Amino acid sequence: MQRSWFLVVTIVLTTLATLFPVGIGVFMAQLEANRREADQLSVFADAATRRAELVMTQAINALQDMEMLREEPCTPANLVQLRRITYTYSYIQDAGIYRAGKRLCSALLGPIEPGQLPLPPPDWRTPDGLDYWFDQPVPFNAQRHVVLIGRNGNNVGLDSQVFVDVVDRESRMLAVVQTDAGRIFSATQGANLTRLQQAYSEHSYGSGADAAQEDDASIVLRKSRNMPLAVVVLAPRAALLANWKSLLIGGLVVGLSAGVPLGILVWRRATRRFSLEGELRSAVRRHEMAVHYQPIASLADNHWVGVEALVRWRRNGRLVRPNLFIPMAENAGLIQQITDQVLDIILSELGTLLRRFPSFYVSINVGVEDLKSRRFLSVLNARLRGSGIAPQQIRIEATERGFLEPDVARDTIQAFRDAGHPVYIDDFGTGYSSLSYLQSFKVDALKIDKSFVDTIGQEAASSTVAPHIIAMAQSLGLQVIAEGIEDKMQADFLREQGVDYGQGWLFGRPMPAVELAQLMTRATPQAVA
Ligand code: C2E
Ligand code: MG
Ligand code: MG
Repeated sequence: MQRSWFLVVTIVLTTLATLFPVGIGVFMAQLEANRREADQLSVFADAATRRAELVMTQAINALQDMEMLREEPCTPANLVQLRRITYTYSYIQDAGIYRAGKRLCSALLGPIEPGQLPLPPPDWRTPDGLDYWFDQPVPFNAQRHVVLIGRNGNNVGLDSQVFVDVVDRESRMLAVVQTDAGRIFSATQGANLTRLQQAYSEHSYGSGADAAQEDDASIVLRKSRNMPLAVVVLAPRAALLANWKSLLIGGLVVGLSAGVPLGILVWRRATRRFSLEGELRSAVRRHEMAVHYQPIASLADNHWVGVEALVRWRRNGRLVRPNLFIPMAENAGLIQQITDQVLDIILSELGTLLRRFPSFYVSINVGVEDLKSRRFLSVLNARLRGSGIAPQQIRIEATERGFLEPDVARDTIQAFRDAGHPVYIDDFGTGYSSLSYLQSFKVDALKIDKSFVDTIGQEAASSTVAPHIIAMAQSLGLQVIAEGIEDKMQADFLREQGVDYGQGWLFGRPMPAVELAQLMTRATPQAVA
């Protein structure tokens, strides 16, 4: 990956890792704020409903008491009783008597002259005979209005404010609705009646409690269970915000305390990887690669016919195995430089040996990128020209990973072969489409992967695979080299199966050139038949 790209990705990942918990914290804060507000609203609506029911209960009880009176209506004795009733019920302001649209008398006003205080037809009459005048003017004070509730010619007057007289620090809007009439008859001072009436109409279909969120307000509707009453509460968002801010700070603190360490962790992880990649990059620049050589032996007589060059990274005085850095090198676009350096090391370390034993060979592992063009071939050609080393002494090991673009790979492989370099398929059997390659790729040999050799002599199902690969290779006229032979039993089995060559600890471990040269010159000339 390009350095700049890597940085961008790292920064994005780190930011995401930091912001994700913060986002969750803020989201939870929002949920909590909403939940708390809903709870508070609900508690408030319950209190308001109970209050309205209480006032209404007093009105009904007062009417009942009036119906029990035995005195002639509006006589002095009757008026005394009416006053007693207004004093008994704290919310009742006046108790009066009416007949056929005319008020006759009341506790406060005494007898009323005919025509003096006309009573219009009720605004609403319930099926059980309750009459409602939702908004009647009060004598002596034009500013004030009362709710009149009447039955059987008796009525009580209530200040409409007593229905909504609930202590509220949040200044929410509250209205009480007569649900049969669907009409608001009491509301807090300054409440937006149109809005409340609309909210009631929109949310009154369900039964019991109902809550709704609107853009600028939360609304709760609560219906009384035993009276034709409902309460509508509307809480503006501004009230919620005060709550929300403190919760937001809490959410941010929690989110950041999880997000920042997570972000640091991600950043460290990424940059550590990045720095390892950077380290590898500078190692390649400073030519810090080394090569070890592992013998490849003829199974017929155990003589070494060649070696495989295996790269090592000299890092802080230690040799790092290729499995740990080759994939990174492939990703970082360093593999071609490594292949070139391995070739240079081989030629400088083994040049003499190769010239001395012209049938001895070195096989080189090439990377995915090396199979995409003829670049490495031309490097190879240039280095070998006039070196006294024959092309067939340098062999190419390609893994199936390199065949992702089969047409290009096929062309490159053919070019190596045309130039006299035998090509091997490495780790054969581990890629998932090995057989299809065999059909379309012309190669010289297969290296059977160690995992198949390991199963020889075991009961495992895969232990039957090796003989099939061998038989197939033979029928295609391909040489077979078995990898990872560790004991004699495996070697014997493979030899019986007709495998020509083997590689593994049984014949020799990967070793530095000096060691290889010593072993070979000591054993010459037979060892290198
Ligand atoms: P490979 O090409 O299949 O190499 C064989 C690996 O098996 C080597 O591991 C070798 O040390 C190990 N091996 C050989 N015989 C035995 C045995 O009897 N027992 C056990 N347990 N292991 C055995 P190494 O050197 O770690 O290389 C690993 C892989 O790295 C190689 O697998 C090859 O794919 C890759 N590699 C090595 N050098 C290069 C290189 O220069 N360029 C590229 N592109 N890849 C390389
Ligand atoms: Mg190999
Ligand atoms: Mg292999």
